[in-house]
Amino acid sequence: MDDPALPIRRSRRELVEAVREQPFLIVTGETGSGKSTQLPRYLFEAGLAKHRAIGVTQPRRVATMSVAQRVADEMGCALGTVVGYQVRFDDCTSEDTAIRYMTDGCLLRQILADPLLSKYSTIILDEAHERSLNTDILFGLLKKLFLQKKPPDRKTDMKVVVMSATLEVDKLSEFFGHCSVLHIPGRSYPVKEIFCNLLSPRDVGSSAYVTEAVKVTLDVHLNEPEGDILVFLTGQMEIERACDLLFKKAEAIDYRYEVHDRAVEGLLILPLYGSMSTDQQKRIFLPAPAGIRKCVVSTNIAATSLTIEGVRYVVDSGFVKQLNHNPRVGLDILEVVPISKSEAKQRAGRAGRTSSGKSYRLYGREFWEQCMPTHTVPEIRRTSLTAVILTLKCLSVHDVIRFPYLDPPEERHILEALKELYQCSAIDRRGHVTRLGEFLVQFPLPPNLSCAVIKAASLGCEDLLLPIAAMLSVENVFIRPGDPQKQKEAELQHQELSSQVGGCNDFATLLNIFEQCKARSAAKTFCTMDGHGSIVYIHPSSTLYNQESLLEWIIFHDVTVTSKIYVRTVCPVRYEWVKDLLPRLHQIDAHELSSVAREEVTEEEITKWQHKEDLKRQLEGATDNS
Ligand code: ADP
Repeated sequence: MDDPALPIRRSRRELVEAVREQPFLIVTGETGSGKSTQLPRYLFEAGLAKHRAIGVTQPRRVATMSVAQRVADEMGCALGTVVGYQVRFDDCTSEDTAIRYMTDGCLLRQILADPLLSKYSTIILDEAHERSLNTDILFGLLKKLFLQKKPPDRKTDMKVVVMSATLEVDKLSEFFGHCSVLHIPGRSYPVKEIFCNLLSPRDVGSSAYVTEAVKVTLDVHLNEPEGDILVFLTGQMEIERACDLLFKKAEAIDYRYEVHDRAVEGLLILPLYGSMSTDQQKRIFLPAPAGIRKCVVSTNIAATSLTIEGVRYVVDSGFVKQLNHNPRVGLDILEVVPISKSEAKQRAGRAGRTSSGKSYRLYGREFWEQCMPTHTVPEIRRTSLTAVILTLKCLSVHDVIRFPYLDPPEERHILEALKELYQCSAIDRRGHVTRLGEFLVQFPLPPNLSCAVIKAASLGCEDLLLPIAAMLSVENVFIRPGDPQKQKEAELQHQELSSQVGGCNDFATLLNIFEQCKARSAAKTFCTMDGHGSIVYIHPSSTLYNQESLLEWIIFHDVTVTSKIYVRTVCPVRYEWVKDLLPRLHQIDAHELSSVAREEVTEEEITKWQHKEDLKRQLEGATDNS
């Protein structure tokens, strides 16, 4: 199982020595060269985890669990013993865990309790090129903690290794005080890049890429010699739809030509996205049986986080689902957007791991030139900073504007985060963290959801809100199949779940689903968002999709943009219920923070909250179940 041909093996001695000698080190190498799985093990075997553990962060939950499992298998130990992982709501580690894989969010939370990370001998920040928000914040914190204090001030001998594909290496090295960079020479084969010209700039905002991807995949399967196919799509729903269509089309081709086409039969279609269980994911790594071609239909996770061997053909939709902050509505919006040119190259590279390959780009040159930026904008410059600013404040980083960011976010985004934190009383008018803020930061939830949980506890209805908060903090619980017949069946089932609780409240529907789990829409509608003036539409997945005439005020959880701006997970409310909250929602400008008094209500809420000692545990249980 331990691949003797992995490029990293030749650099083993050099790597271990470099980590021993230097407090900071950058390791680069092609995706799949063995960085995530091998380096922690090399350091462990060299004795670097004798007294304190080696912590390895990953931006993605799925990759964290999958890589930990792989390393445990390679080292012949049970997961959770010497090798373990920790992700939100799932801690698979023990006293003996010497190599601890975890999400970057988990490490950030550990810094809150132990700023010097004293239980670690080495911290490895993996997938640095992904530039996730949490990893970027960790860069700044580690730089602040370990580089700005010179010996003998430095209170730790901890080692920090930053691992990255070969992007932006000079910039990273400069950021970490011009630290050494060790490059692992890769092995890759040429990949022919084919522009299929099926999508043009006019297709931005449409979902045509799903059906086009299905057609090209079948073409490849019918016409190309052996080799697995990796299809890049955008999210769970699109992937499930494409997989359904692939099954159906494969059957239809068989039927239409009235031939027993073994090639069509021999396609093993496997979806891959973030919320799949580890067992389901394992299947994508298993080689297909002889004579069968594997076709993995995946989100961007297969671009850098996970490497699937045997892929010779990539089908690149040209799109990715990305969280972007929309200043007009003051919210993070999950949008399907064109990928960057560097991302397209990374995707294509997945076809050249074991032999020469081909990347079929659904788009044409016009799309490439006009719609695709050169590089992906790092998350810190495009998403809400509320949660991380609260974390920084709790770590006594008061000046959040001059914090050492690798790429500083726009100042107005920082001010917006401060405003939101003030609105939910997490900071006071001087920008200092309140007791409530210190509570909020302990929840593994966005501050607005944590606030709702605490409010619910003070009103004695946390049993109702906890499952809802848990379900809102994971991916969509509804699946919309690709097959129109199955789609109808699914819609009926979803409607049934909603009508059981009155049929006009998506939050209640979620609660109903949770309760049921435990025991075992047509015309467009719109509402106007107050202040900001944007028209948003209620998403077709909502039970309120067809009931616009009944609505005056609504509460919604999230926003998604396809052809229009849609709000999802909606319930109607009465003005009287929310009017007392509204002044606070309207009034504050971050510049005015110092002139506005803080409400006193939170002390009482905190006290009530403190009586609910087991609430967090309940939340964890609820999320696990959901
Ligand atoms: P890098 O971090 O440089 O991208 P990895 O260490 O993730 O490389 O991968 C090295 C090799 O291990 C690859 O060939 C990959 O296919 C294999 N691998 C990684 N994770 C798994 C897994 N969960 N199951 C099977 N193989 C895996």
